[in-house]
Amino acid sequence: MPNNVKVTFLGGLGSIGRNCAAVEINNKIMLIDCGIMFPEADMAGVDIVLPNFEYLRDPQKEVVGVVCTHGHEDHIGAISSLLAEMPLKLIGSKLTLGLAKNRIGQNGLLGQATFVEVEDGQRIQIDEFDMEFFPVTHSVPNGFATAFHTPQGVVLHSGDFKLDMTPVDGRHTDLSGLGRLANVEGVRLLLCDSTNADSEGYSDSETSIGASLAGIFRARQGQRIVVACFASHIHRIQQVADAAIATGRSIVTLGRSMNHNIALARELGLLHIPENRLMNVDDLDNIPDGDLCVICTGSQGEPMAALSRMARGDSQWLNVRDNDCIIFSSHPIPGNETSVTRVIDNLIRKGAEVVHSGNSHVHSTGHAKSLELRVFHSVVKPENFVPVHGEYAHMSAHAKLAEGMGLNPDNILICGDGNSVELTEQGLRRADDVPGDYVYISGSVGEVGASVLNERNTLGQDGFVSVIVPLLDRDGELVLAGEPRLISRGWVSEELTAELHKGLAGVVAKAVEKALAGSGDALAVEKAARRAAGKYINAETRLRPMVVPVTLGVSSK
Ligand SMILES: [Zn+2]
Ligand SMILES: [Zn+2]
Repeated sequence: MPNNVKVTFLGGLGSIGRNCAAVEINNKIMLIDCGIMFPEADMAGVDIVLPNFEYLRDPQKEVVGVVCTHGHEDHIGAISSLLAEMPLKLIGSKLTLGLAKNRIGQNGLLGQATFVEVEDGQRIQIDEFDMEFFPVTHSVPNGFATAFHTPQGVVLHSGDFKLDMTPVDGRHTDLSGLGRLANVEGVRLLLCDSTNADSEGYSDSETSIGASLAGIFRARQGQRIVVACFASHIHRIQQVADAAIATGRSIVTLGRSMNHNIALARELGLLHIPENRLMNVDDLDNIPDGDLCVICTGSQGEPMAALSRMARGDSQWLNVRDNDCIIFSSHPIPGNETSVTRVIDNLIRKGAEVVHSGNSHVHSTGHAKSLELRVFHSVVKPENFVPVHGEYAHMSAHAKLAEGMGLNPDNILICGDGNSVELTEQGLRRADDVPGDYVYISGSVGEVGASVLNERNTLGQDGFVSVIVPLLDRDGELVLAGEPRLISRGWVSEELTAELHKGLAGVVAKAVEKALAGSGDALAVEKAARRAAGKYINAETRLRPMVVPVTLGVSSK
């Protein structure tokens, strides 16, 4: 038993985001990533969703650190929340840690973190964990697949990856290193990115986007060009900059994270833009239309980001006008489609031309499609396999794919958040589940529960009705002291409320009288009032607003 290796999934399996898995040896835990999820449409008022950290609070266990596979928010965005509870070693490439540091610094938690920078191909030992880092290509540079050399053999986590054979920086997914690992030691357990497992074929190389962008730039002489993309997609930014420079344009960057990441990547030598082509935002008005390229945030339709402001006409720097060319060099992540469509609409209303992944070759995915996954499986040849990072459909498609590659179905486990697996001499088996549900963070109050969200959804759908029941204490006996009153918000029109009031007051009064004749306490009265009002309202309006009964003590004169 002491030599068994456990992997517990705290997020990222069954929905996109909040990636977090715990590798556990002898009660020591090393996390693989610790990310956030962006809220979905039915999560009213929620800012971010975190992995469930309950399991990590077990006093029997010690969380040593987090392997940060790459710099995306769905992998590193929740580290601050965990650092607020415990000190951690953070292990990753220089760029990944640089991106993580930014957020951790904003939260004033740098003192809780020890940063451990690792290079491509490096192998390090921290506590119980002997880890080796293999370069992978993805939509942010310098990501890793991580091999854990454990008492039960190698556990390999792919990280987010694709097999880009012509990457912008020439840094390939290290298939030969992975092949050596597979052939010399063997991979006992593979955890592998499933995002595009149900997409056919092979993803386009990032460099193919550069060629396409160059063509788009050449065909738009005299027009201003604004390109929105992810601020962490350094290679995309490089290619936009290259296209701009090749067509004689100067570059202005807009958006806080864009400015920060460009500065960081240039400092690390990962982004090459000559100083004389990078103009200050104050110079924007002095640059002729055909000589300007703006690179900005807001490709996901985020309302406060640079592009949305330009589209609405409330940017301090640049407002979109007739004949501007706006390029969305991105694809909306699930949940953002509506806001992206709205921004595109606003831009077109202003007379701009909008180029996006639906009408031009301006974006390529960062995740391996099915053919790439087949190559990966054939190189790694895992003994056991758990698909990770994806909706259930993606993980299920990935499991089928592995089976098609010859893996015995008994050696494939489809897991979800909160599930745990154990690697023993006999093989891979399920272990006890742990809490894996969503942790919703709202405003500055922090965590809100699912019941609060349910209430918000009810309020958002059908509104709020309060029934006020006046009660009089007559010598220790409660009696109804007048007609129940009604206050509502977001329910029906004022006129209709007035119309419904009489009937509602009648049924509530009747129910209250009955309750008073029974047990006679205020609690029973409230319950009866809520029931009667809810039933009446539903029958009359087919709506189910939140009904809040209030008993009001009236003093006798
Ligand atoms: Zn991811
Ligand atoms: Zn990623």
